[in-house]
Amino acid sequence: MIASCNLHKMRAVMSDPVDYYLSTDGGEIRLNDLIHRRITLRYQHEIHCLRCGRKIPKSFVQGYCYPCFSTAPETEECVLRPELCRAHEGVARDMAYAETHCLIDHYVYLSYTSGIKVGVTRNTQVPVRWIDQGATAALPIARTPNRYLAGCIEVALKSRYADKTNWRTMLQPLAPAPDLSAEVQHALQHLPVELQVYGLTSEQALQLNYPVYQKLPKIVSLTLDKQEELSDTLVGIKGQYLLFAGGGVFNVRKHGGYRIQLEA
Ligand SMILES: [Zn+2]
Repeated sequence: MIASCNLHKMRAVMSDPVDYYLSTDGGEIRLNDLIHRRITLRYQHEIHCLRCGRKIPKSFVQGYCYPCFSTAPETEECVLRPELCRAHEGVARDMAYAETHCLIDHYVYLSYTSGIKVGVTRNTQVPVRWIDQGATAALPIARTPNRYLAGCIEVALKSRYADKTNWRTMLQPLAPAPDLSAEVQHALQHLPVELQVYGLTSEQALQLNYPVYQKLPKIVSLTLDKQEELSDTLVGIKGQYLLFAGGGVFNVRKHGGYRIQLEA
């Protein structure tokens, strides 16, 4: 099988284990079917902006041209730092976008990736947000009517929990996830009183299993910027990473817009 595409992040479907799909010029490919097979990724030396499609020499923030990066609502500062969101005061790059992405219900959650971390997500992104980060368990602990308030809760919890994932640790077999529900009371008590009203105390933790069938030897991050052809046996998929038998790991999302040929 040979397929071509401008890489997009893999589409994940909640299942046991998670199902992964890659969109190509000829339609979607179920990547779980390629596990245990040798696959080859060939970089075609073209990058296309994920938003406007323009051919670009270098991408910003996982796939955008510079003009899109600096003006698109998808790359506004509050995407990474929800506490900076001003949509609730009527200020945003694109208010129509903010209506459907910032001024809707958000969750603050605890997830287990390389340890317990805190994060924020739109209610519509559950459970995809957790799968994308390779979490093996996740639990919403607060629900707010907009992005800004969720960001305030996250900031208040950053002194107690990490807000980033150590991807090398995440890609190795982990100890079973701890019981996240045991953390909820501690986390909510850590909040200022005016934010405690958004707390959730009766949610169930979600467990997530990934199609990973082999422990990797020493992990090596692969990039098409340095190596135009990657070829090895696919042994697993976790988060947005393809895992190879030799220990190479390929972050699909980071290569957004890269034109490749996939042979399997
Ligand atoms: Zn663009």
